[in-house]
Amino acid sequence: MNAKKPDLHRDTLAVREAVERSPYGENSEALYLTSGYVQPSAEAAARRFAGDEEGFTYGRYGNPTVASFEQRLAALEGAEACISTASGMSAILMMCMGLLKAGDHVVCSHSMFGSTIKLIGSDLAKFGVESSFVSQTDVAAWKAAVKPNTRLMFAETPTNPLTEVCDIRALADIAHAAGALLCVDNCFATPALQRPMALGADIVMHSGTKYLDGQGRVMAGALCASQELVTKTFLPVLKSAGMTLAPFNAWVVLKGLETLDIRMRAQSANALALAQWLEAHPSVARVYYPGLASHPQHALAMAQQSGCGGAVLSFEVKGADPEQARQRAFHVLDSLQVMSLSTNLGDTKTLIAHPASTSHGRLTEAQRQTAGVVQGLIRVAVGLEHLGDIQADLDRGLSSF
Ligand SMILES: *Cc1c(COP(=O)(O)O)cnc(C)c1O
Repeated sequence: MNAKKPDLHRDTLAVREAVERSPYGENSEALYLTSGYVQPSAEAAARRFAGDEEGFTYGRYGNPTVASFEQRLAALEGAEACISTASGMSAILMMCMGLLKAGDHVVCSHSMFGSTIKLIGSDLAKFGVESSFVSQTDVAAWKAAVKPNTRLMFAETPTNPLTEVCDIRALADIAHAAGALLCVDNCFATPALQRPMALGADIVMHSGTKYLDGQGRVMAGALCASQELVTKTFLPVLKSAGMTLAPFNAWVVLKGLETLDIRMRAQSANALALAQWLEAHPSVARVYYPGLASHPQHALAMAQQSGCGGAVLSFEVKGADPEQARQRAFHVLDSLQVMSLSTNLGDTKTLIAHPASTSHGRLTEAQRQTAGVVQGLIRVAVGLEHLGDIQADLDRGLSSF
């Protein structure tokens, strides 16, 4: 090792950070598949288990490939540390188990990811955690929802599926004034477009399943935060609850980070062009995309997301009533020949879904209405196919009601 590490640009870190070469000198990051580790001596083992010495002890607690992924993601987010998990949802569970106890209160937006609303609003309620859900974009509503026992504010921006953008800096100020922490789910923008910690967020949560992998292969999750939060608050939960990221999945996502920036920019460019085309389509009532001037938080999104709208957009098919809108949306989906009908997102293949009957299907109709997930709504997570093929694929259904 040479003495001092040079100060490297984020683009370089995405490719070079945390390359720990084995004695074989492999150029591509090694994949360490092992559940246990041989200890150099009984004394060393004792020190490692006591946390007095660095060193791997057991696969549930840590793995070199997993550590490389964590270190590289932390570098991209501008965070001191990162801890990874088996999925995005288990990252949220780890955060909540680490930070909250019965009687504590969480404020979230009511347009967050469906499973996040279920986990915080219902599952954690069983353990005495209180929650309030507010309008994503109404800063005053977030402020008004804060109570003396508020410990955490949790925001997702842009949201799924309506791409509503919240002001990270404003929410961080509200959280900190109340002695609470702000976590941002950065799944849609990724550190390629948005770095919440630079805007005051304390924790950045990821579903690595989405753009970090980027090619729809594995599940992964992560929390980026201060070293203290990671070591003292989250790591103990990992050790006892075991939502550990598998080394193979960590390796796939680690390699995914290398192309994150160019994928996000290329897929965002495709999404912007598709959003503009849809906005002019006679069968489309409305398009939701932060890169469009018609988006209510367009200016904020452009400032907060490096001038990019991201790769996800949603649109509403015109319909006389909810039933007709639903039938037409289904017709568009069933007429596709190229895109994948899939509720996932963050793939190089364009994925399309009907949120009201899938990702938001577990919510009550009233909750869906509040979240704006109407029956005519279609979400497109735009991939890397040729734009003309994507447009023609949608037009097949949109032009034949
Ligand atoms: C997918 C997703 C999650 C959950 O991640 P999993 O890896 O599926 O557990 C959380 N938040 C957002 C915004 C997501 O899209």
